Amino acid sequence: MPRTLVTGGAGFLGSHLCEALLRRGHEVIAMDNLLTGSVDNISHIRSDRFSFIRYDVTNYVYVDGPLDYILHFASPASPRDYLEFPIQTLKVGSLGTHKALGLAREKKAVFLLASTSEVYGDPLVHPQPETYWGNVDPVSPRGVYDEAKRFAEAITMAYHRSHGVDTRIVRIFNTYGPRMRPEDGRAVPAFVPQALRGEPITVFGDGSQTRSFCYVTDLVDGILRLLESGIHTPVNIGNPDERTILELVHAILEITGSDSAVVHRPLPVNDPKVRQPDITLARIRLEWEPKVSLEDGLKTTIDWFRRKLGMSDAGSRA
Ligand code: UDP
Repeated sequence: MPRTLVTGGAGFLGSHLCEALLRRGHEVIAMDNLLTGSVDNISHIRSDRFSFIRYDVTNYVYVDGPLDYILHFASPASPRDYLEFPIQTLKVGSLGTHKALGLAREKKAVFLLASTSEVYGDPLVHPQPETYWGNVDPVSPRGVYDEAKRFAEAITMAYHRSHGVDTRIVRIFNTYGPRMRPEDGRAVPAFVPQALRGEPITVFGDGSQTRSFCYVTDLVDGILRLLESGIHTPVNIGNPDERTILELVHAILEITGSDSAVVHRPLPVNDPKVRQPDITLARIRLEWEPKVSLEDGLKTTIDWFRRKLGMSDAGSRA
């Protein structure tokens, strides 16, 4: 039975990954300091192959027994979170990745780094292929996340080249689904509760900026395929279905049947104007592409938020 450590295992993506790995027969250890993760995301998991360790991976990590895989997903991941915790974000991307790589080397485990489309910054090439080097301002408030992940990619490749660690790097584009925190400030978990409560929808800037939203089950499928591949260079995983933020808002308003108004707020510093993954590499090498449409993924996500916010079904604005 493969034995797998997931750092950030109590987070949005980490918890979905833990469940998918358990379904595949792994023994799974989730590690999380609960800075932005929550035990609520994993407390429903009933398996004697699952355990949770509350620990900050920026410190020396000790895990008893063998490990076959380490998936390093620990990090604040929303712009609001990494602006609130800039130093923790830099530390988990740098020191945390170093510790997790050291553990992978010691255990001879396959190591997978959760990287991000933010390594492309405010991109000057569109859509973004893995060969694009990016356009990042290291000293902007957003730079703490971007540079931490760029460093994380660099040290992952160095451990592969110098120490022969069997590494993978996934560049994750915007992903959404159940278990996002309503207060995390990202677009989907901000807009859905606003629409359900009939509150104004807070669009930053004029809403013409674009993102490409991937449903969480598609993302997890792509990550597991990458894990099983022998690809050491970065691979984009995301949904190329690019929408403006106003289009996203209208899709949410239509599905919820909400009559919330749209209000405009200042655009955050260095908010990327466009973003769309070029997934040619994943299509060819992993035979992967997303299957869940934005509308279908939003419906499931909206149902989950309804329950989370204590609302009953359709048309239930309190
Ligand atoms: N956004 C917005 N209102 C919100 C939250 C986000 O208009 O309440 C915008 C944000 O400025 C960005 C896009 O939605 O242009 C996606 O933001 P998110 O924080 O979800 O992800 P990221 O910027 O990291 O892609």
